[in-house]
Amino acid sequence: MLILNGKEVAKEVRSSLAPRVVSFVKEKGRSPHLSVVIVGDDPASHIYVKNKKLACESVGMTSTIHALPSSTTQQELNDHITALNQDDHVDGILVQFPLPQHLNSEEVLNLLSSEKDADGLTYSSLGYFFAGKPVVQPCTPAGVMTMLKHYKVPVEGMRAVVVGRSNIVGKPMAQLLTEANATVTVCHSKTKDLSEITRQADLVIVAAGKARMLGKDDFKKDAIVVDVGMHRGGPAGKLCGDVRFEELEGWVQAATPVPGGVGPMTIATLLQNTCLLAEKRAGLR
Ligand code: NAP
Repeated sequence: MLILNGKEVAKEVRSSLAPRVVSFVKEKGRSPHLSVVIVGDDPASHIYVKNKKLACESVGMTSTIHALPSSTTQQELNDHITALNQDDHVDGILVQFPLPQHLNSEEVLNLLSSEKDADGLTYSSLGYFFAGKPVVQPCTPAGVMTMLKHYKVPVEGMRAVVVGRSNIVGKPMAQLLTEANATVTVCHSKTKDLSEITRQADLVIVAAGKARMLGKDDFKKDAIVVDVGMHRGGPAGKLCGDVRFEELEGWVQAATPVPGGVGPMTIATLLQNTCLLAEKRAGLR
């Protein structure tokens, strides 16, 4: 079984970004800048945000973390986002979800200017994306496509199944696979006989958010399996995905591990998106 190594591919993506960052600095006298807003003190979210900052710095980009207390009101958060929208030195903005329950995530997300929406998830960004005119592409599905391309997976003509239909992963994933000429089926929590459908697929992208839900019996021989799921508290308290990875050896053709599969690709795409937004705002693209 070929392991689709997101860590390695992400490293290549970062290397390819470095010269673009250098050119941007030469042109503008500063590096592309991602601002990350986080509210509250969820430890996992703070780790994700710190990793994003380190990733930015690894390619010479700037990242600032705006850590706001759990007591932040909707108005205060909205004002913060508005100020970042107006700050000429900020190229990309990302709001780390989940937000504390008293805050309205959709309202916050859609305040982001689509010119600075590094995740590509505002309604406006998604509208452009689904119309085939993306400003940037949503990070996780775009990262999956980069990985498939890297491993020369012949997506065109494949029968692909996407398990999950969220705005963040499932729906845009299905769109990108369709654009790449796969024949795509989208499954969700109301799908009947899920396993019967996934077993017909050449390529299965699993993004159901259910720890270790699918295993060998759910895939056909020589399928390609991409596991987007990410859960703390798998066996021995480790990070795990939606797929029982250890069952796949000797059965499927290729699969992504968790960790080290889709996660690093999401972050690498975030960097690509921030760089692209910076270049676009500076008129370099
Ligand atoms: P989500 O918003 O909870 O969506 C989950 C989707 O899966 C929904 O469409 C749901 O169907 C469907 N689903 C749930 N149970 C199912 C079942 N038993 N059979 C078939 N479909 C089922 O989650 P998300 O934001 O898309 O994220 C999915 C997973 O990816 C999570 O584990 C998340 O942590 C992970 N993730 C990882 C990365 C990364 O970088 N690696 C990035 C983003 C997300 P309904 O629509 O019918 O409810």
